[in-house]
Amino acid sequence: MNDEWQPKGLCRGNHAHLFFPPPTFERKDDRERREMRAKAICNVCPVQDPCADYALAISEPYGIWGGTSEQDRKALVAS
Ligand code: SF4
Repeated sequence: MNDEWQPKGLCRGNHAHLFFPPPTFERKDDRERREMRAKAICNVCPVQDPCADYALAISEPYGIWGGTSEQDRKALVAS
């Protein structure tokens, strides 16, 4: 699978913490706020499409990828 898109992702660097849950408990409203901020970055990322395709192809279980959360991806697979 081609992964040349990965170095071009806007989530690399300072914003990386927004894309995955913290190691400690995260309240629902905190998670929703974090995911909304991550998705806003994905929405202006030049590699959003290949990133989302990749996450679906490998059934990535964690984090925001290509503007989708794990719940979003489960719903896409089920539809
Ligand atoms: S679409 Fe989102 S998760 Fe994927 S590389 Fe871009 S910023 Fe990162």
